[in-house]
Formats: sequence, C-alpha cells, structure tokens
Amino acid sequence: MSTKDKLNIPRHPLPTENPDIRRKVFNEVALGFDEHLAVEEAMRCIQCKRPYCMEGCPVAIDIPKFIQQITERDYLSAARTIRATNSLPSICGRVCPQEMQCEKTCILAKKGLPVAIGALERFVSDFEREYGSAQILARQKSTDKRIAIIGSGPAGLTAAGYLVAQGHEITVFEALHEAGGVLIYGIPEFRLPKFLVRNEVHTLEKMGVQFSLNTLVGRTITIDELFGEGYKAVFLGPGAGTPIFMNLPGENLCGVLSANEFLTRVNLMKAFQFPKYDTPVYCGKRVAVIGGGNTAMDAARTAIRFNPEAVYIIYRRSEKELPAKIDEVHHAQEEGVQFMYLTSPVAYNGDSKGWVQEMECIKMELIEPDESGRRRTRPIHGSNFKLSVDTVIVAIGAQSNDLLIRTTQGLETTNDGYLIVDPNTQMTSRAGVFAGGDIASYEATVISAMGQGRIAGKAIHEYVMQK
Ligand code: FAD
Ligand code: SF4
Repeated sequence: MSTKDKLNIPRHPLPTENPDIRRKVFNEVALGFDEHLAVEEAMRCIQCKRPYCMEGCPVAIDIPKFIQQITERDYLSAARTIRATNSLPSICGRVCPQEMQCEKTCILAKKGLPVAIGALERFVSDFEREYGSAQILARQKSTDKRIAIIGSGPAGLTAAGYLVAQGHEITVFEALHEAGGVLIYGIPEFRLPKFLVRNEVHTLEKMGVQFSLNTLVGRTITIDELFGEGYKAVFLGPGAGTPIFMNLPGENLCGVLSANEFLTRVNLMKAFQFPKYDTPVYCGKRVAVIGGGNTAMDAARTAIRFNPEAVYIIYRRSEKELPAKIDEVHHAQEEGVQFMYLTSPVAYNGDSKGWVQEMECIKMELIEPDESGRRRTRPIHGSNFKLSVDTVIVAIGAQSNDLLIRTTQGLETTNDGYLIVDPNTQMTSRAGVFAGGDIASYEATVISAMGQGRIAGKAIHEYVMQK
C-alpha cells in the first residue's frame, strides 16, 4: 500500500460500551479493537525512518516494529517487541496518557490524527494474554543477595521484575492487603480491570518474588532493620498518596472526603458490592468533585455509578486546561457528569447534625501563565454563589507521606518532601537506598514510575554485585 493510500485511512475510534448501560455498572468502558480494526489501524503507520513516536515514549518501545508486526498478523511477536522495554503493556495500553506522549509526537498528528498507538498496544497485550503463553522471563542463576522493595505500585513491581530476573532474592513490602498500588486501589475497575493487575503480580510471584502484605515499613519494620536482617539494597516506591485539602471552612463536615478515601473504599474494599463486602462508602444524591485531573474524573465517574441526582466537577480553570486524559473527560461527559469550569469552592456549610448540605463557590478568571506555562486564575469579586450538595470529594492532588523519611537516617528531600535521587541510578543520598515513582518525581504517571523502577533495578543490580 502506498504512503498516500495509508494517509487516507481514517483513524479508528476505540469502541466503547453504551453510556446508558455503563453508567450503572463497573465493567470496563473501552472495549478495545478487534483483529480487523487493529490491522486497519496499524496500516495507517507510515513506518517513519525517524520514528518521532518513540521519542515521546518514556520507555522507548519500538513502536514502528510492533505496529508492522500487527500488519503481518504476527501479534505474539508484536507483544514480545513491546515487552522488551515495557513489562506492563496491558496496563499501559489502558492508562498511559498517549495523547501527551507517543501519539503527540507521531508524525501523522502534524496534519491530522495520530496512529492509535495506545489502542494497538492494548490489542496486542490482550491477544497475548488470551492466546499466548504468560511471559515469564528466564531467571539468572541465584545470587543469594536479598533486596527489599517498599511499595507494590508500578515502580516497585518493575524494579522487582527486573531484579528477580537477575537472580536476586526479592521481597516486596506492601502496606495494604493487596499488591498493585494505585493500579489496584486508585484507578477504577471500569478503566483498568483488576484481574490484569493481579495477573502481573501473579507472574512476578511465579518468578520467585515474595510479597509481604499488610506491612507498613517505617512502623512494622524500619529500613535500618531491613539492612540489619541482611538486605543488601532497598528500593523505595511508596508513591505519594497523602491527600491534599484546601483548608476551607467546613472541610471537616461529614460528607466531605478525599478522592483517595472514596476510591480506595470502592476499588480495594469493594464498597460498590456492599453488603456482600462489609465496607460501605457514603455517596449522597448531589455530589461535587473538586479538581480536574485523572483522580477527579475517576471519582466523578465512580460516584455516577451510585446513581445520584447530579455529579459536578468543580474546576477552577477552563476546559482547555483540564489535566485529565482527554478520553476520560469525554467518557465522564457522556456518562452525565456536569462540568462547572472557572469555579472554585470557598466554604462548605453543614446542617445541625454536622453533614455538609451546600457549598459556597466563587467564579474565577484566567490571567497570565505561571513559569510552567499554565494560566493562573483569579477570583472574580462578588461572583459567589451557593450549590446544594450532600457529598464533596476533594481531588486536588496528593503529596508524599513522610513516614519512611522520618524513620530512615540520611535521606535528603526537596522542600515539599520528595526524595532527591541521582537520575542516572535513582540512588538517594543514602548508599544502598534507591527510590522511584511518585515519591521521587513530579511526573505522576504509571509509565514514568515504571521507567524509574527499571533504571533503579539496573543500578541496584550493579550496586549489589560490586559489593
Ligand atoms: P503507587 O502506585 O502510589 O504505589 C505505592 C504503593 O506503596 C502503595 O500500594 C502503598 O500502599 C505502598 N506504600 C506506601 N508507603 C508504604 C510503606 N511505608 N510501607 C509499605 N508500603 C507502602 N497515571 C497514568 O499514567 N494514567 C492514569 O490514567 C492515571 N490515573 C490515576 C488515577 C488515580 C485515581 C490516581 C490516584 C493516580 C493516577 N495516575 C495515573 C498516576 C499513577 O497511578 C501514579 O503515578 C503511579 O501509580 C505511581 O506509582 P508508584 O509505584 O510510585 O506508587
Ligand atoms: Fe508510525 Fe507515527 Fe511512529 Fe511514524 S511516528 S512510525 S507514523 S506511529
């Protein structure tokens, strides 16, 4: 097929479940390409000599190669190509912000719509799971060196996978009762089915990784005690999951909660299946979600599945500045979430029993950009108005938890509590202690956490082998 013919093929949208059906259930919303759509979409790739798409991929997947393998219907080879640099493809194919990464830099995006790289990655990994054999990397001869991984999010899982394959004895310490980090407790089932994360954890277990669940390092055991027990190196991947609040009057009323608590109760504790699972979550009839990122969209879309009268997103900038993935925003809109832009809460008012019953908001206007290029906002004097609500979910961001930092000597941090690491090795200021993921960067994506887990894995291997 000529390049001109390829350029004439329109981009194929990802099929999704009907909004009227999906807003009542927690089943996955995006249905994925079938073989026919995947091959047609793959044909759109013009196999650039200099593939800009790869420059946008934080783990440098050989994108043209795996797409070419799809056109040849050699899907298992395509899966191997992806797995060469990405150990969690079925997860990344679903949650990576491709529009900001590989698809943003794809040459076709210059004049039209980029190749649907994310949807193709998802197709290949789903095909591999259904028809291929689970990829268990061959393990090197045992080194008898013990390495501790703290936190089982994408950073910790990636470091664990790399290091166990090198023959080391790996134990992952996880505070919660299930491994997976945000992939399990944060991102909802309708966006990332949990069995995919469990499959990945199970694969690591089959490779020999031990998981010590319900273990809060810093309380149950400290890093120094781990070294005392014979661990040769420690990787810190605890994420940055402590919710930030706005310190507004009324924020401690009943019915005002963080997105972290709301999503954890629903995802990890299965509140949506109450009373089958005995951890209920409160979700009233008029729900306001504060924020415009992925967490806010996930909270709003989760709330809508509890069948309230209204769910609002309250966002202080305009639609153009929303930081959430574009398809998440579209899905939220299709499911009936109402967006109130250029609006910020100023106070919450409660009833006589201490439950929130309304929020006071103010309209905002956009002014000049800050150093990062993002436009600042300013309240419009006298524009206050009230909104009747009985649930407020605050999703304006999260920060690092200082438990590990407080209980470990010699860890240097930034002013806002993130670990300072050498970007070439991810080693912290303390020898033998490495870190990656949200605790050591502001990028806050699954793929960047994995990228850092991999860099740390290589550096830890060299470190313990030299010792
Ligand atoms: P985490 O995934 O946060 O995992 C850290 C783990 O460490 C947790 O399981 C925690 O319980 C454990 N832990 C913490 N402290 C200790 C301790 N002291 N001892 C033992 N265990 C400990 N990114 C995307 O790319 N795409 C998305 O669509 C997307 N959506 C998101 C939606 C939500 C709701 C949230 C909250 C985040 C989202 N992100 C998304 C961001 C992404 O999930 C994170 O950047 C990524 O998970 C960070 O990985 P991590 O390995 O650093 O930590
Ligand atoms: Fe294909 Fe786009 Fe990458 Fe070019 S930049 S190789 S068209 S995916």
